[in-house]
Amino acid sequence: MSRRAVFRPRNRWRKARQLLFILGDQLSREHPGLAALDRSRDVVFMCEVREEAEHVPSHVQRTTLFLSAMRHHAQWLTARNFRVRYITLDDPRNTQSLSQELARAIDCLAPDVVLCMQAGEHRIAEALKKTCSAAEVSLQTLEDTSFSCSLSEFDAWAEGRNELTMEYFYRERRRKLSLLIADDGKPAGGEWNYDSENRKTFKAAPACPRPYRARPDAMTREVMELVGSTWPDAYGRLEHFHWPVSREEALRALDDFVSKRLSEFGPFEDAMWSGEAFLYHSLLSSSLNLKLITPMECIEKARAAYEGGKVPLNSIEGFVRQIVGWREFMRGIYYREGPAYVSCNELAQAGQLPRWYWTSDTDMNCLAHCLGEVIEHGYSHHIPRLMVIGNFALIAGIEPGRIHGWFLAMYVDAIEWVTAPNVVGMSQHADGGVVGSKPYAASGKYIQRMSNYCGECAYDVRKRSGDQACPFNVFYWDFLIRHRGRLESNHRMRMILRNLDKMDEDTIRIISEQANALRRQFGID
Ligand code: FAD
Ligand code: SF4
Repeated sequence: MSRRAVFRPRNRWRKARQLLFILGDQLSREHPGLAALDRSRDVVFMCEVREEAEHVPSHVQRTTLFLSAMRHHAQWLTARNFRVRYITLDDPRNTQSLSQELARAIDCLAPDVVLCMQAGEHRIAEALKKTCSAAEVSLQTLEDTSFSCSLSEFDAWAEGRNELTMEYFYRERRRKLSLLIADDGKPAGGEWNYDSENRKTFKAAPACPRPYRARPDAMTREVMELVGSTWPDAYGRLEHFHWPVSREEALRALDDFVSKRLSEFGPFEDAMWSGEAFLYHSLLSSSLNLKLITPMECIEKARAAYEGGKVPLNSIEGFVRQIVGWREFMRGIYYREGPAYVSCNELAQAGQLPRWYWTSDTDMNCLAHCLGEVIEHGYSHHIPRLMVIGNFALIAGIEPGRIHGWFLAMYVDAIEWVTAPNVVGMSQHADGGVVGSKPYAASGKYIQRMSNYCGECAYDVRKRSGDQACPFNVFYWDFLIRHRGRLESNHRMRMILRNLDKMDEDTIRIISEQANALRRQFGID
């Protein structure tokens, strides 16, 4: 007996004056295009296509999140009398290509104009332009108003600066938005940055409150089935899917974070613990990136808790810095640098990505845990991304495009505008210092300090060569040896590189040979 579909769009519209194309990460109820529509004559167009889950692989939770959130949004629009043309993944007429589906919609609805908010990926923006031009329909690109800093404000700030430093951008945004600024115009508490108070580690298994996890409703369960049957061999596990797929759920996740975990967010921001993927982090990135909630909503809720005395200054400051600082800075960089940015490879690294990045099947305990979290949840917090998974790729010599492709595939919050500057720039230093002034390269010592991973590892974190030496140590020193010439001109690297002067030739040779052997063993070379 066939079951009745939960989500059944009506696609019988024949004519539209304006066609508003809403992409899967543009699900804001305040989308500027919606206000421009005449609900009786214009049509909203949304489509699910295989191409978007296959041009790079996509974790099953990432695909499920996008499709389910799109369907919930289409349902919300329909309930408000918008005419929605929605092409589902299993629609027999679906060409499974974004451009071709847009072309088909134009052909069927003959609009005078196609409206679309700025795409979060240059590839898609280009495809839309080409399709509209071939169909001889004008394309109007709308500004994405969900950010607290417009791209023109970012460009005005960046113009004429030799270096773009996030900290200065952040201070200017704090002043502009009057965030944590005292009456005398100085930063609240006297400092702009409380990072030094935010590096606490756990001494024993932490007892963090469990985060809000949305329960999949019938529509999400239907999508989970569809994703499972369409991509039976896709990466990741689906049974732990609990991401917010609607604005209501995203607001619940925000309230839960602010009331239960924000107060400890600052101090333990950088800590890691096996089996604890979430700790005091907000888990709001996917809701923000799909535009279910806005950055300023998050900030206002957090500010109210701080002003009510429920959250200390170092925690609210840390949170504000991530949201109005790093997030908006990364977006500004992505659009300012243009399409060539994703192919940067300043350090000329050429290694393959080990196969175990997709399975977590490695005897390095830190990587096994961090990669395992990603497979299970499509998520890990910032420090596993930067200091374990990204750091390994950097120091082992993996080609930045390969690790960028992996991050794009495996995280529920991955969209190129935010993934590329974080991976190509911050984590791999492949942009030559646009995002960060020095590479985030670290040895096993950092991981030992910030986690409990090393105690149960097959390798010895105290050793930098020889039997059982921690691969992070071997690769860290090898990275400095290999890139010494390039990095010497960077004044922030001089102190670190001086350590190489103290090494004799034999030690350098042994480290290089061991790094080469490990690269062969891991399938990097
Ligand atoms: P929290 O730790 O609770 O932080 C609060 C919010 O701040 C996040 O939800 C996020 O919106 C924002 N934020 C914090 N740091 C950054 C940052 N560096 N860039 C942009 N936003 C930030 N973030 C993504 O949204 N998508 C990605 O694909 C992505 N890829 C990353 C890859 C690497 C190698 C690194 C180092 C970082 C990446 N980040 C990415 C940034 C950051 O790690 C995630 O935003 C964060 O871990 C999401 O978890 P959370 O919501 O619990 O964040
Ligand atoms: Fe990771 Fe090295 Fe520690 Fe093992 S010893 S968990 S490989 S840092």
